[in-house]
Amino acid sequence: MIRPAPAIEAIPATTPFVGPEELMRERGLAALVRLGANESAFGPSPKAVAAMAGELERLSWYGDPESLDLRDALAAKHGVRPGEIVVGAGIDDLMGLAVRAFVAPGAPALTTRGSYPTLNYHVIGYGGDLRTVEYRSDGHLDFEAIAAAARACRPALAYVANPDNPSGTFASAAALAQLRSALPPATLLLLDEAYADFVDPVALPPLEIDDATIRLRTFSKAYGMAGARIGYALMSERNARTFQKIRLHYGINRTAQIGALASLDDTGFCDWVVDQTARARADYYALARDLGAEYIPSHTNFVCIDMQRADRATYVMDALLARGVWIRKPGAPPLDRYVRVSAGTEPMRRAFAAALRDVLDEVPA
Ligand SMILES: *Cc1c(COP(=O)(O)O)cnc(C)c1O
Repeated sequence: MIRPAPAIEAIPATTPFVGPEELMRERGLAALVRLGANESAFGPSPKAVAAMAGELERLSWYGDPESLDLRDALAAKHGVRPGEIVVGAGIDDLMGLAVRAFVAPGAPALTTRGSYPTLNYHVIGYGGDLRTVEYRSDGHLDFEAIAAAARACRPALAYVANPDNPSGTFASAAALAQLRSALPPATLLLLDEAYADFVDPVALPPLEIDDATIRLRTFSKAYGMAGARIGYALMSERNARTFQKIRLHYGINRTAQIGALASLDDTGFCDWVVDQTARARADYYALARDLGAEYIPSHTNFVCIDMQRADRATYVMDALLARGVWIRKPGAPPLDRYVRVSAGTEPMRRAFAAALRDVLDEVPA
């Protein structure tokens, strides 16, 4: 009998994410207002689209396995060396490499229960021992609990998303520095900065490259290129040499490299997206206040709105989907009483607001 490796066979069957396409197929929906995956509603840079379109003829070629043009441009943007940048097929890919590289089978890796789940998926898939702490009751990551758990279990890796998903909260550079110094020196801090582009750059931790921290960035959110699957990590050259041993050298889509490079040049577009996103957040805050609902002020392209109980949040999410509006909700307390809605264009926001008002009229008390 053909059997998977024992560590893989032991993993329960899991579907980490039911995509909107599947939801549409299941429900026979022809269209969906996509506000569930924090995709950009404002599209990619027109310059990126033009650059990618102009190169489609050469799709028969592999991309540069070193992604050197892109790494040079990113190095210039961040004031680091090209050798301190590793390009991957999105953060999700780079996160898998980090886990595979640093978390030996059986070794602990630490995260917050209910935070961005792809880390968990990789830790389990590579045979690591997933440990979790809880969010604070106010929906912020609990850095004290992370540090205490890390001192107790000495994880190979501790994961922090900043700004965080799904809460949308942001921790200051000082808080991050304090966390880093409170972690055991042998614990790698994997800092997921998928939403860094939405934060004032001076508020972010300074880019001091060392072996103990790896920072993950993406073109999926503010740059609007989620479907192109491209992101990068900032790390020491020593850690980059480790990634170099295991990464998939032709794993980065050639057209995506070209689009990412072109969109880095289009800072005006990125600024416009960040501005539009701030308007969308303000709209959602106003809607929540009008509905008498609490919300968590967000530093990202989504907002969590309080539905008071987890069962009510689930009801609202399902009822919105039945009306063709796709949003999601956090899975673990204390955030599971919220629904999470991505920043949409004005028409998308109007569709969401109308459907939400409708649903709140019928949701069981
Ligand atoms: C969206 C998101 C990602 C995924 O990034 P990709 O580059 O598209 O893989 C990673 N981390 C967080 C916190 C996210 O919200």
